Amino acid sequence: RVLFRSGSDDILNLLVRAFCGSAAAAGYTVPSYSLYPVLVGMQDGASEIVPFDRTMRLPVERIAASRSRIFFLTSPNAPTGVAFANAELERILAAFPGILVVDEAYAPFADDDAVPLLARYPRLVITRTLSKAYALAGIRGGYALAHPEVIGLLDRLRDSYNVNRDRKSTRLNSSHRT
Ligand SMILES: *Cc1c(COP(=O)(O)O)cnc(C)c1O
Repeated sequence: RVLFRSGSDDILNLLVRAFCGSAAAAGYTVPSYSLYPVLVGMQDGASEIVPFDRTMRLPVERIAASRSRIFFLTSPNAPTGVAFANAELERILAAFPGILVVDEAYAPFADDDAVPLLARYPRLVITRTLSKAYALAGIRGGYALAHPEVIGLLDRLRDSYNVNRDRKSTRLNSSHRT
């Protein structure tokens, strides 16, 4: 149920490669994280843009009716700072037949997160990063939480080598031992 990679950008890239193509759109809201359209463009994928209105509240009905194969949502959203309630996410998950990605890069700053929904919704993917609340952007650590079948797909697509370790500290440790 967990895949750890070099930053959540790496996870988002795998998700686009797994679920988006010219005949399978990736949806995302605007404004939101600027990497989603870049990844979709690199994949030559179709996209569906769902704009926020001036309230910046979640357009639940629009996303629930989306025909995209995968939809990216940032919660709390950047750059607006608006978090989306689990009740709203559940209304989307009940109707939307694709993969719903909730990018929780900023969830440690919020009151709530979508993790309790994972057990009930196999098409929910949550992405997390160590770069923001943990201030570890240089380490490049991020992970996905999802149903084992989704994690299995991403695992087959990922680079065959895993997250690196810090060679310098390894060397220091071994010189301590000698
Ligand atoms: C910073 C950020 C990421 C990427 O984080 P990394 O783990 O450093 O790749 C993903 N999504 C959002 C919304 C972000 O703000």
